Amino acid sequence: MAAQGTITRNEDGTVRFTATCMLCGQPCAVDRLDAEKAARWQAGEFVQDVFPELSASEREALVSGSHAECFGAAFPADADDDEEWTSTWLFGTGE
Ligand SMILES: [Zn+2]
Repeated sequence: MAAQGTITRNEDGTVRFTATCMLCGQPCAVDRLDAEKAARWQAGEFVQDVFPELSASEREALVSGSHAECFGAAFPADADDDEEWTSTWLFGTGE
């Protein structure tokens, strides 16, 4: 799933994802993403499947559109495993 953000293409063929952190209001961006991967991600593939090489913070920025620090402070996780937290946190099942 993708956060509300903007994908812009860089001159070198990579893309940049930019969002506004909903928690602090500052820009939150991840640059130099593979354009093909970004397209797969936008099409609905899980970010951790498409971008396994990114840091957890970067993936969090893509998924939540927020800084990892802000998101972590707002929604403390009790699991280090990032396989499932995205869907749970963002599209909460109300557990
Ligand atoms: Zn923030």
